[in-house]
Amino acid sequence: MTTSHAVVVGGGIAGLAAARTLARDGVRVTVLEGSPRIGGKLHVSEIAGVPVDEGAESMLARRPEGLDLVRGLGRAADLVNPGTASSAILSRGALRRLPSGQVMGVPSDLRALAAAGVLSPAGLARVPLDLVLPETPRGGDVSVAAYIGARVGREVVDRLVEPLLGGVYAGRAELLSFEATLPAVAAAARGQRSLISAVQGIRKAAPADAGPVFATLPDGLGTLPHLVAADITAAGGTVRTGATVRELRRREDGWRLTVGPTRDPEYLDADAVVVAVPAAPASRLLEPDVPAAARELAAIEYASMAIVTLAYRTTAFPRLPKGSGYLVPAVESDPGRGGRGVKAVTFSSVKWPHLRDRDPGVIAVRCSIGRLGEERTLQRPDEELAASAMAELAATCGVTELPVESRVTRWGGGLPQYNVGHADRVARVRAAVAGTPGLAVAGAAYDGLGIPACIASARAAATRVLDHLRSREGVEHGRSGGQAEGTRTQ
Ligand SMILES: Cc1cc2nc3c(=O)[nH]c(=O)nc-3n(C[C@H](O)[C@H](O)[C@H](O)COP(=O)(O)OP(=O)(O)OC[C@H]3O[C@@H](n4cnc5c(N)ncnc54)[C@H](O)[C@@H]3O)c2cc1C
Repeated sequence: MTTSHAVVVGGGIAGLAAARTLARDGVRVTVLEGSPRIGGKLHVSEIAGVPVDEGAESMLARRPEGLDLVRGLGRAADLVNPGTASSAILSRGALRRLPSGQVMGVPSDLRALAAAGVLSPAGLARVPLDLVLPETPRGGDVSVAAYIGARVGREVVDRLVEPLLGGVYAGRAELLSFEATLPAVAAAARGQRSLISAVQGIRKAAPADAGPVFATLPDGLGTLPHLVAADITAAGGTVRTGATVRELRRREDGWRLTVGPTRDPEYLDADAVVVAVPAAPASRLLEPDVPAAARELAAIEYASMAIVTLAYRTTAFPRLPKGSGYLVPAVESDPGRGGRGVKAVTFSSVKWPHLRDRDPGVIAVRCSIGRLGEERTLQRPDEELAASAMAELAATCGVTELPVESRVTRWGGGLPQYNVGHADRVARVRAAVAGTPGLAVAGAAYDGLGIPACIASARAAATRVLDHLRSREGVEHGRSGGQAEGTRTQ
């Protein structure tokens, strides 16, 4: 396979994971990353001397792909888990523990739900109606709010499900797809009239001790892309930054990529291409040769958000937080309703004890601001966003001292929205791409935006490319009487 050249467009975790698989299989691979740094949504930097992620900070340890990648890089021993699994929700004016027995906010234990105090008495009284209501018809896909609201009431949606989903998508429950964002719950609910019974089934089937839910790396998850890139290079691949792909065109025997500025373009030829960029640039690149996929990709909406990281002296906290953080439902955080706009707070130095060990005198806190439709909140200058985050900590933790350092990271259009119909849309994209030899797509826009899901999509894309190259080389071997022909590259 050494004669084949594959280009991966996008140096986020999906592109890098795809490139690593290809490089390790002997393909000559070039990763083209448009920005000056690799990693995409994975990026870490120091604040007050402590490495705190600016984007993704943990990966699900209940799926194998992320951990497998780290193990494959020989870094299994480095993986660290959260020091606490407990988190809270700011509801009805107070911080309350997430009720036990819930799955992404959908309750299964009514006593635990009542004890948590997250819902009002009226909201709580509505929940058990699920046990007696007739089946909620669900022909095709429906929104999270429509289905869950119909079963257990709107308050469960507003005060539990949406904030938990908001942590992933920064989206709205009225728009998000039940099937695509809560696949396990949606599948269980198919066979049951009652949603509560369906979630009880999921809880029963879960192993009693499945181990920690999340994992990260000691210097931040933002170090993972660099480890992967080093592995690609070691396997003979090339990772380039500042190399924006502006055009992708199919040629008789492969692909031609136009890279760099319009005035001084560079042309790169490839036998196969993996497009691992967000939906909007993917749509632009696929437009000339796969217009059906491009149209579908153009319709995927993205939410913007910002992460405000504050580093405080430990002594600034009258009492050190015990849990990993808390979520703020839109009904509580909306600035129009008197909220401060902060939708989630992570006490990074509590969640990750290794950060505390780095400097016991510093507590790093990450505050997420902004969800779909809250663009005006994000149009405020950095100082105002930081002030909102400080006001949040003053109100909930009594922190009145100024932080020793603050940092605002904006993620414009950072999170794809898996809206109603998303799975069908992705199936249409894949069908169009499947009819285009030597092309594969990967990344957060498709089958899950968590890191393990992105890695899974990368592996699938790499497998598709390898199959194509193998069948192509087989043909070329046949043509040249058993001698592989050199490919034209660059
Ligand atoms: C703030 C934030 C926090 C998150 N937290 C978590 C978390 O804790 N755990 C978790 O599992 N997930 C988390 N996620 C989601 C997860 O990080 C992302 O879904 C995932 O990293 C996306 O990877 P990707 O490779 O698909 O895309 P990206 O990371 O977006 O990478 C795509 C890359 O393509 C490049 N690119 C775009 N256009 C071009 C072009 N034309 N030519 C060349 N390059 C191009 C971009 O510059 C970018 O580097 C978070 C996301 C955000 C925004």
